[in-house]
This record gives sequence, structure tokens and C-alpha cells, in this order.
Amino acid sequence: MTETVSSPTRPVWLIKIGGHACDDAGALAAFARAAAAITARLVIVHGGGPDVDRIQKAMGRTPRFVAGRRVTDPEDLEFVEMALSGLAQKRIVRALVGAGLPAVGISGVDASCVRAALVPELGRVGVPKKVSVDLIHALLDRGFTPVISPVSTGPDGNAVNVNADEVAGAIAAALGVDRLLMISDVDGVLVHGTVRPFLGAHEVEPLILSGEVSAGMIPKLRAAALASRKGVNEVWIRATGQMALALPSGTRISAKDHSASAPPEPLREADLLAGVFAFPRIMLTRGKGSWVWDDQARPYLDFSSALGVAALGHGREDFADLLREQFANLGHCSNLYGNQPSLELADRLIRSSFAKRVWFANSGTEANEAALKFARIFGQAHGGPGKHEIVAMKGGFHGRTAAALAATYHPEYRRPFEPLLPGIRFAAFNDLDDVADVISDATCAVLVEPVQGEGGVIPATSAFLEGLRALCDRHHALLIFDEVQCGLGRLGHVYAYEAYGVTPDLVTLAKPLAAGFPLGAILIGARVAPHLKPGQHGSTFAGGPAACALATRVFDEISRPEFLLQVNERACRLRNGLETIVKTLPLYSEARGKGLLQALVVADGQDLEPQDIIRRARDAGLLVTRAGDRAIRFLPPLNVADTDIDLAVDIMRRIAMDFLSASRREAPTSLSLSHRS
Ligand code: PLP
Repeated sequence: MTETVSSPTRPVWLIKIGGHACDDAGALAAFARAAAAITARLVIVHGGGPDVDRIQKAMGRTPRFVAGRRVTDPEDLEFVEMALSGLAQKRIVRALVGAGLPAVGISGVDASCVRAALVPELGRVGVPKKVSVDLIHALLDRGFTPVISPVSTGPDGNAVNVNADEVAGAIAAALGVDRLLMISDVDGVLVHGTVRPFLGAHEVEPLILSGEVSAGMIPKLRAAALASRKGVNEVWIRATGQMALALPSGTRISAKDHSASAPPEPLREADLLAGVFAFPRIMLTRGKGSWVWDDQARPYLDFSSALGVAALGHGREDFADLLREQFANLGHCSNLYGNQPSLELADRLIRSSFAKRVWFANSGTEANEAALKFARIFGQAHGGPGKHEIVAMKGGFHGRTAAALAATYHPEYRRPFEPLLPGIRFAAFNDLDDVADVISDATCAVLVEPVQGEGGVIPATSAFLEGLRALCDRHHALLIFDEVQCGLGRLGHVYAYEAYGVTPDLVTLAKPLAAGFPLGAILIGARVAPHLKPGQHGSTFAGGPAACALATRVFDEISRPEFLLQVNERACRLRNGLETIVKTLPLYSEARGKGLLQALVVADGQDLEPQDIIRRARDAGLLVTRAGDRAIRFLPPLNVADTDIDLAVDIMRRIAMDFLSASRREAPTSLSLSHRS
């Protein structure tokens, strides 16, 4: 069901925009576009200082401020109301309406929205005392975007000037908004010259006392801290600038997590974790959609999608809710007992495929490990112990446990662990003659990735997979597709085998299946299912209710025809972008891949290693990974935005231009994310 603008299920955000930001027509239009791109329902509270200044000065009066708040003599109040509830407000409303938001201007006076207590030493100035949210709710419920001027009603029933940050904080708390964004001229709260990504509410007064923050930041910080104390979940002070408004950026003020502001001694990976990775790595702390942030609050566009796992994007609150609910009900039950969510998932997988049965695993490796065991069971049943050989592909990757590693080609991964499981024979990928030479009646299965991922993003040809099917049939062997990386929507079909029109006997699935909760699965066809007996395989964790409930939700999203259509459109956009780079910049020799699993291949003879390009991309805010010796892999979330595809292509294009111009001793072009607004 599509949500309407007024859908009460959508979160509500309050955005406070200051007078300076809405004084400049270009900045205001950019803000309006950014606001219109937010999917949450919006309430806008605005200032209008420059308008008030202009009128005051025109009337021969001098604007005066105390601790960031405007002193307002009774004779100034008319000008204030004229400027805020009139000039500034209508300019903002027009911009928002122009950007497509149905904005309606009101003030704290309307329907007694905000009642204020007077602060007599500042004149007709007040602080919010009581907020009535009925009018705001009525507007939101009808799909309007309330735009609120801070002029409010004083105890005597007359108008009173209230600081817009304070009004924003008070309304945010009264409404219980999901997020309060206080837009500032600076990127966040600057402490000793750098933006603090996090500020405990308890730190606000000491900061003000120390003189570290001043002028307009004082009421803003106090209002932010108060809103957080009153239960507003997310309070941010940030600029509109570089990052889209929907993305967390700037300083988060929270009354909840005091420890975050005084981090303990940093824990170092190299001191704690087994040295099987190269440390240190970027430490990621959060993600939203196709974006992730590191522990320095740096954003990255994640075109690895956590190695294909976060295929529906990061930070999915609906997934978190589902898991919370399932865990509160039944988190796990082991394989001694059955559970309904696993049946629902199995039912979907079977209905959507050739499978007769499903086996659940915890990872891609384990799914392959089990598939190889099932192949041996099948071989035993059809040809006795002699029919045990597996044919796997050169360049193939199937995982790191004993049998999966034995079927993985990469010599460096294999060598330290030899001797590996016997009976695995390798043939050249996309070379049917070579497979025909290696396969025999001793073969119980042929294992292949429809698109080799780790091996360099190399799609199989249709003729190759069709030929493998025929060879397997001739030798009574199983055809196993490892779709751990290329299955579940990645190629624009639910399963990769559908993209080729070739039906295998077993398919292994994992990565995106439960969106980050470990889960793998094997689709088991009619030739294998009858041979599987109790006790032949098992796992304490596999097929647990939490993982399966989440996977069912993921599956329903991925398998929608419109979704798959969009994956294909996004894949075309990405591929076209990469092709353009290859055509114009000789750093790369080829763009290749299928669906949203694509790669740029670094041309031979170029003095730049793929790893260097990956590092440059990371420094420019784009996460990509290597595949094979020469390929840079693009594995974005399946629901990646078009603008993010364009941004990734642009970053790659500029890296190539910088490199090529530097090698021609020309000045490099600058590279940063600053063009993202
Ligand atoms: N098979 C393929 C094709 C893969 O790409 C991978 C991982 O990258 C695996 C198997 C192993 O999966 P996991 O890391 O979940 O064990």
C-alpha cells in the first residue's frame, strides 16, 4: 500500500530554520528542495532575524541582543510580528510550496499554539510555557506542512516575541517528534574549532559557561538539551549544507547517553582480534540507506553494501522492530524443535523456485558446505562410494570452511590448510570443453557461481550454464549454483538461475537473505530431496525463528516484480555510467558484470593498483571492494538511489581523471563530497 502524505504511520520531524538561512533566495530554495525530499511528515519553525533588523533599522531603531535573544521593546513588537509572521514566513511558505510541500503558515498565536511567560528584562520577550498541539495535529493529519512563526501569546493575551529555537524545542517536545533538526549556519556545535558529533545534554551549561559557545548558539543548545530531556529521541544541530537533510549529520544532543561524550580508552582491533585481517580498519558506527558513518562521523556511500548483505540498505528501523517483536516472543528454539517463521520462509522459497525442500544454514560458506555433503549423499545413492567427485571452477569462491575451501580456487586461501577434502577437480570457467574433460561418471556434482564474484565479477555465459546442465544430466551429476552473492534480487530476478533460464538441482543462498542477521539456505530440487534422512546434517542456530522472520520480510520486499524492475533500471544506470568512464578514461579496460553486481577492470600497464583506487575512493567517501586481481567491484544496495549511483560514478570518474592528469603532470581536479547538497 502506498502511504499518503498524511499517513499517520510516517514519522514526524520538526525542522527549525534560522532567519539567515531563509533570507537568501538560493539557500532557501535549496532548503525547500532538501525538505521536500524527506519522507517523514514535517513541521517547520522559523526565525527571521534579518527581516526584523531591516524593519527596525528602517524605523530608526537599533537591534539589541542579550545572550542570543533579541531585546523587544513594546514598540518593536509590531515590527517583529510583521517581519516574522508576515515577510519571512510567506517567503518560506512560497519556497516550500514551490518545492512540492503543501505548506501552511501559522504562528504561536494561532489557536493559542504557544503560550509564553514574560521575561520582563528583555521587554515583550517570553519563553514557551504551554504548547497546544491540536492545530498542528489537525494540519498534519490533513497532509499539510505547518510552518510556524515563533511570535506567541503572552499571559495578558497580547503578542510576545519568543526565540525561535526555544519555540522549536517546546513544540518538538509537546508533539513528541521523532527527530528535531535545528539548522544552523555552522556544521554543528564547534568545540575547540571542530564539530562535536555528540554532545551530552549535561555538557551544555558547562560549555556555555566556559564561553566556548556564544550568541545564537546559546538558546539553540539550551533548547536542544531541553527537548532531548523531554523525550525527543533525536535532536541534531547541523547545517543544511553538504549532507541531505534525511541523513544524520552535525552534532547530536542527547540526554540519554552521557558515556558517549567521555569515551573510554579506545579499544584497538590489533590488540584484541585474531590477526586474519589487516588492521586498523575503518570503524563503522551507523548506517542509513546506502550510507554508513565511521567513528569520526565521516559519511561513506556504501557500494559494498556490507559485502552484499545490506541489500535493502542500512539502519532499517522496521527490521529492528520486527526482530524486537520476534525476540520478545521467541528468539530461538534450536533444531530440536520446529518454529513457524522457518516454515513461512521455506514456503516462500519453495513456491518461488524449483525447490521441493529447503535447508537452512548460518552463512554462505555453511550453505555450500551442506550442499557438498548433500551432493555426496546423492552420489552414494546413485553410484556408490566411487561417485564422489565434485567439479568446481577456476576462479570460484565458495567459503573458508574445510569443504567449501576445497572447492574454492584461490591458491593462497588453500595452501596453508592442505591437504584439503579430496575429490575436488577444477575446470576453466566459461569453458565447456574443459569441464567436459574433467567431468566423469565419478562426478556427483558440478559447483558454479552464475556470476563469479570474488573471482573478478565475471558472468557465466548462458551457453556455459546450459552446457553444464547437459553435461550433468549426461553423467547423472547434480548442478549446484552458488548464488550466495549473485542471488536474491542482485541480477534483477529473485534467483540468478532465472536470469539464465537454466534450472539447477541445488542453489545456495545467504548474504542478503536476513539483511545482516546470519542466515543461509539451500534450495533442494526433486532429485536430491528424497535422499536426505534424519541425522545427516544439523546446526544449533540454523533456521531460528528470529532470522527466518526477518528473512521472510526481506524476501517479500525483494521478490516484488516492481522492485526487481527497479533493480534492472538501476543496474542499467550504473552500467552506463561505468561504460562512459571506460570509453573516456583509459585507466580502465572494461566495465563488466550483471545486474547490480558490476566492476571496472583496471587496464594492464597502468601504474595504479586496484587497491590504490579503492583507497582513493574511500578517501572521497565511496566504499568499493576488490574482486579478482584487477577488478573494482560495485555491489550497492538493491534499493540504491539514482542520485547515489550518479555520485559513485562521478567519484570514480574524478579519481581516474586526477590520476591521468597527474601522470601527465597536470594539476589534479579537486575531489570531495562537497558537491552533495
Ligand atoms: N559463496 C560466494 C559466491 C560468496 O561470494 C561468498 C562470500 O563472499 C561465500 C560463498 C561465503 O559466504 P559467507 O561469507 O557468508 O560464509
